[in-house]
Amino acid sequence: MTNPADHACIAGQRLNPESLMMSYGYTPAWSEGAIKPPIFQTSTFVFKNAEEGKAFFELAYGLRQQGPDEEMGLIYSRLNNPSLEILENRLTLWDEAEEAASFASGMAAISTTLLALLQPGDVVLHSEPVYGGSDFFLKNVLRKFGIEAVGFRPSASVEEMQAQAAAIAPGRLAMVYVETPANPTNHLIDLDACAALARQYATPDKPVRFVVDNTFLGPVFQHPLKHGADVVLYSATKFLGGHSDLIAGAALSSHALMKEIKAMRTFMGTMCDPNTGWMLMRSLETLKLRMERAAQSAQLIADWLREHPLVERTHYLTHLEGNPVQQDIYQRHCLSPGSMISFDIKGGEAEAFRFLNALRLIKLAVSLGGTESLAEHPGTMTHSDITLEDQKEMGITPQMIRLSIGVEDPQDLMLDLGQAFEAVGMPKEVEVAEMV
Ligand SMILES: *Cc1c(COP(=O)(O)O)cnc(C)c1O
Repeated sequence: MTNPADHACIAGQRLNPESLMMSYGYTPAWSEGAIKPPIFQTSTFVFKNAEEGKAFFELAYGLRQQGPDEEMGLIYSRLNNPSLEILENRLTLWDEAEEAASFASGMAAISTTLLALLQPGDVVLHSEPVYGGSDFFLKNVLRKFGIEAVGFRPSASVEEMQAQAAAIAPGRLAMVYVETPANPTNHLIDLDACAALARQYATPDKPVRFVVDNTFLGPVFQHPLKHGADVVLYSATKFLGGHSDLIAGAALSSHALMKEIKAMRTFMGTMCDPNTGWMLMRSLETLKLRMERAAQSAQLIADWLREHPLVERTHYLTHLEGNPVQQDIYQRHCLSPGSMISFDIKGGEAEAFRFLNALRLIKLAVSLGGTESLAEHPGTMTHSDITLEDQKEMGITPQMIRLSIGVEDPQDLMLDLGQAFEAVGMPKEVEVAEMV
């Protein structure tokens, strides 16, 4: 393979990621001039000779140092595969990461990364709420390996986070794990403050890794590595894949940490498969287009919802008036409010259900970040395993509805939302006035 960086500049000027998603890291001459890379649907790779096989294995198993221009040879698709290597090279561009690894799912990326970087006796300090699967993994799976998870309250100030870190036995804090914006409330966590916390407790023999699940704003609208994160994780099932037709994940980091994470991936077998990798490359070509269009529509819809007589409140990243702390974080971290909106409908669960059951264009389903708009009820669906008391503390109410806005015409989406409000019991005249 040639150095993919050779494709990234014209006249010394670095090109933007969206300009490189169709070509970076691939040369048509490798594949009969095909403009798209083929899917390398193969389990194993033929060595030119036994000496080459030996040399590849020496590198793969770390038996000798990598030469200055030496690349990891292709051995077996659990270790590496050209479809995944091209994908991983492209993934590094959005976050300006040194290296990326693709996984079979977001949970595969999260679990493999945490198992690679933690050991018995360690403590993980994490934000709450986090994705349900991550929450279970942190609290129940890691515990089996003697790793403890300590959550900080959703509304915790930087001082309260400091106090919680200070209460952990010296030398045991090994990771700060954060998901921001939080699902489904869009609550923001201060990445700069978390990075400072991790640095403060790190010692020469005990690093404290700062890991961020950036699924919600994706690599177009938020770049945690620039705010001191050591690892960025994605459920590629969401915006990166973007068409609700695949399950995948990704981790991005430095060469040094990625070596540990990829080694764990090799032994757990949690890598992405070549076909899914190829589908993801197709999706990356339109990532920015899709995310920008969805965010534009979401802004219109969130503003419209806020004014709707049947809406009690909206949770959207440009609706932060009266909350200067959140506003300040938004300005430092986020390039856009994105396309996830939650809102409280007036009433309770019954009204929320009537609304959801009446939607026609917008589909009632969990997941997010796809081309089609989706709606769900966090209290009884994605967040139903959280106790009612904790839900209340996190701001998840029985009347909360979560929307993932897709790429449909925003007026059509508002037409659907409007008729669903009507089904809940909204007077017709107000409805018509609202729509225009
Ligand atoms: C969906 C999701 C995950 C899990 O990803 P899968 O691809 O479903 O395994 C992790 N984190 C966040 C924030 C998610 O939305």
